[in-house]
Amino acid sequence: MRLACWSWGGRHHAGVVSPCGRELTPLALADASRGALPLIQALSRGEGLPPAVGPRIPVEAVTLRAPLPRPLRSLFCAGRNYREHAAELADTVFREQLPERDAWPIVFTKLPETVVGPYDDVRLPGRQASEQIDYESELAVIIGRGGRDIPRSRALEHVFGWTVVNDVSARDVQVRHQQWELGKSFDSFCPMGPWIVGIDALDARDTRVRGWVNGELRQDGRTKDMIFDIATLIETCSRGITLLPGDVIATGTPSGVGMGFKPPRWLKEGDVVRVEIDGIGAIENRFTASPAAAEG
Ligand code: MG
Repeated sequence: MRLACWSWGGRHHAGVVSPCGRELTPLALADASRGALPLIQALSRGEGLPPAVGPRIPVEAVTLRAPLPRPLRSLFCAGRNYREHAAELADTVFREQLPERDAWPIVFTKLPETVVGPYDDVRLPGRQASEQIDYESELAVIIGRGGRDIPRSRALEHVFGWTVVNDVSARDVQVRHQQWELGKSFDSFCPMGPWIVGIDALDARDTRVRGWVNGELRQDGRTKDMIFDIATLIETCSRGITLLPGDVIATGTPSGVGMGFKPPRWLKEGDVVRVEIDGIGAIENRFTASPAAAEG
């Protein structure tokens, strides 16, 4: 099963992607603004999906939105979870000891308001806020059945599916504040999509994650090379915390981020970053100048 969220005819819709990936079937939802979230919640309660409303529509005819345009709460994110990525940052300000298999994963959060669509622009925050904007190509886990203290051995039973995110990061801000949330949470800093692929359709424990900047392949890794695997991340995040249907866990990025180059290669206005995961699809986002100061 694949769930998508889109705009068409001036309205938001959520529904099912056809097996060929070229058509969308809208489902009956009182409020489609939260995308696939109410669908995942209904399935977690043991209910079926709501009925279709209207005919199938070609994907090219719509504007895809993030499948979870506004997650329930902050996204859980694993930091430095691929060995080669940890190594590439060993000469940077993140020079602490490389994580070992018996250590604990780094987990931080990213505000839910960071999420934008799979082809939306990402707004650079302006030099006064950060001069070191970086990309991170990542697999994100979408929780289906909630739970607390989920053991590794049962963790995949709690997965609804997977999507693609770019965990856009302001490195100088990350470092400045010790905690990573500010540097990870600028507006529009979490492109997501193009849809959610259910665990029934993809075992993402070994799939390819790639990232390009302006057509240049920068990241090319496999999820099997995570230091802390998907089950361990779910076990970790659910220790004493009840995970909810629709929660998102971003699983970390392979090597090849801008910070790992000497000198670093920060993103600039006009750059286009593409993130693709085999079995899910691709997102592609242009980095644009920030508009004038926004009103809340
Ligand atoms: Mg990350």
